[in-house]
Amino acid sequence: MVATTEEVLELHRRVRECTACPLHLTRTLAVPGYGPVTARVMAVGEAPGENEDREGKPFVGAAGRLLTSLLESVGLDRRDIYITNIIKCRPPRNRDPEPLEVEACSPFLDEQIALLQPDVILLLGRHALNRLLPDAGGISRLHGERVQREDRVYVPLYHPAAALYNGALKETLEADMRRVRGYLNDAEATRARRAGGATRTEMRAVAAAPGGDQMDLF
Ligand code: URA
Repeated sequence: MVATTEEVLELHRRVRECTACPLHLTRTLAVPGYGPVTARVMAVGEAPGENEDREGKPFVGAAGRLLTSLLESVGLDRRDIYITNIIKCRPPRNRDPEPLEVEACSPFLDEQIALLQPDVILLLGRHALNRLLPDAGGISRLHGERVQREDRVYVPLYHPAAALYNGALKETLEADMRRVRGYLNDAEATRARRAGGATRTEMRAVAAAPGGDQMDLF
């Protein structure tokens, strides 16, 4: 069952108060995540940058603007997507996250995924890929591919910040995003099929029950 908004807000509150690693000493604001609890798509980046640290929201700087326009280019509204990062506090001077910081922060991301149960997770950059699919391979081979793990689809993508000043990478990201649109359509169809299947199973069970109408049994 998908979580309630209150459960997600309570998790965000714990992220804001977290002191599990030294990054809490240098942050302005922690950046838990942003988006509706009903989102079927989650995007996971690396770490907050300067703007995010100041505003407490993910992807609000130049990389965020590029992410928004990439999503829009394939008909997706960023407001329908839950966006977060593998670590919730800005590393000084935007350096790469340290393994101990990633480890200290990992229960939060695990909890976000468990609460929202997204159908599709976009992995923005190699750090997100390594964190959620550590054995899958590198970003240069996997970008734009659909990686199915149990009921969930993961799509590794180049990080939008890397594409900001690299035209070729931006074109690759745009092409990969067009593939994402197709994956989302497939994921929606699978979800609808599963829901329909469940209904048919329930109806068969109801029909087989004595009296055929004992809905309260199910
Ligand atoms: N880059 C990230 O990975 N995350 C943000 O929130 C902003 C920039």
